[in-house]
Amino acid sequence: MRVSAYPLVAAGEAADTVLENTPVLGAEEVSLAGALGRVLAGDLFAPADLPPFPSSAVDGFAMRAADGGKTLHIAGESAAGRPFGSPLAPGSAVRILTGGVVPEGADCVVMVEDVQLDGDSVGVPGSLQPGTNFHRVGDDVVAGQRVLERGVQLGAAEIGVAAAVGLARVPVRRRPRVALMSTGDELVEVGETPRDGQIPDSNRWALLAALREAGADVRLLGIAPDEPEPLRALVVEALTDADALVTSGGVSVGTHDLVKPLLESLGRVMIGRVKLKPGKPFTFAVLAEGRLAFGLPGFPVSSLVTFEVFVRPALRKMQGFAGLQRPVLPVVLGYDAKAAPDRTEYQRVTLRRDGRDLVAETTGSQSSSRLLSISGAHALVRVPAGESIKAGSVVDAMILALP
Ligand code: AMP
Ligand code: MG
Repeated sequence: MRVSAYPLVAAGEAADTVLENTPVLGAEEVSLAGALGRVLAGDLFAPADLPPFPSSAVDGFAMRAADGGKTLHIAGESAAGRPFGSPLAPGSAVRILTGGVVPEGADCVVMVEDVQLDGDSVGVPGSLQPGTNFHRVGDDVVAGQRVLERGVQLGAAEIGVAAAVGLARVPVRRRPRVALMSTGDELVEVGETPRDGQIPDSNRWALLAALREAGADVRLLGIAPDEPEPLRALVVEALTDADALVTSGGVSVGTHDLVKPLLESLGRVMIGRVKLKPGKPFTFAVLAEGRLAFGLPGFPVSSLVTFEVFVRPALRKMQGFAGLQRPVLPVVLGYDAKAAPDRTEYQRVTLRRDGRDLVAETTGSQSSSRLLSISGAHALVRVPAGESIKAGSVVDAMILALP
């Protein structure tokens, strides 16, 4: 064993350093079919009013409110996409269907349920209000209005908005290209039978999912052995086409931990240890052409927690997200929490509702090897170094999923 040369940096400071060195990627245009999950690179404005014509909200008769109480001649029909086409004469009505154009001269629509039909005339109720049962031009959106803001992630509703205002292509930020690699001579492919001393490479699949969920386009590099040359060759090749490299394992101070020296030889190691539990050996480097390298610790929970704290916000910055962090909510601690003397802890909890409160319960043993402490967790509770927090106290929780 050797002693690490890297200073222990506060977790918040390390997170700031990562973001300060993370670039925002360029923009590209995509069609709406490929827009799901992407982040808008610019504001979207409506080119025209919506609806673009007075549009009936119901099936019924378009007429003048002043003709209320009379029997009116049915002059024709206005169906969706098939307008009546001429102005409405006083004393007459037009049969109209939902989405049909309310003809010029009409100022209200009476529902079909409320009229008396008799051949080509219709008896309408008295005391009608102008403006009822139809949407006026620009009721939903006016021409020139900003309908979506830069930094918004496009989900179903936002894609619907873009389509409704007639935009077939939208400007979005490029997805980060991330090369992902596991390191360790003990690792075997999942599904292969481990021999003595071997374990399945679980980090690769957990991190692949986490990266994809955060919007990255991932290239899997497999397992690198704990030998400097093959490790170096894999990394150098991968970096030709990646915005970021994510590795797991090989960053602590054991003699087989080769990731830090490799990153030192390829660029500048900005962070080599953090006051964080789990995740002390987290390593961050800036390489040639501004490419980033995240050396995550090998313990499965450590790799996922450091992903949450450092990598996910960086991937969001690259994609131009308006918000980089998970939502934070106050929760009531359901257990006595205690942090290590020198490191801030991110404890994994489940949440349950109790009246208006969210109560956080520990997921059990917080060992950094125990994936079951994070599987099913709803939140991470931050317990500052050296602090003990009693059950019943209100603390901030970083929300992963609400129950
Ligand atoms: P390291 O950071 O390489 O010292 O690894 C710390 C611990 O995490 C060791 O027990 C490793 O066997 C384990 N580990 C490292 N990489 C992985 C991986 N990809 N999947 C599962 N466990 C791993
Ligand atoms: Mg290792």
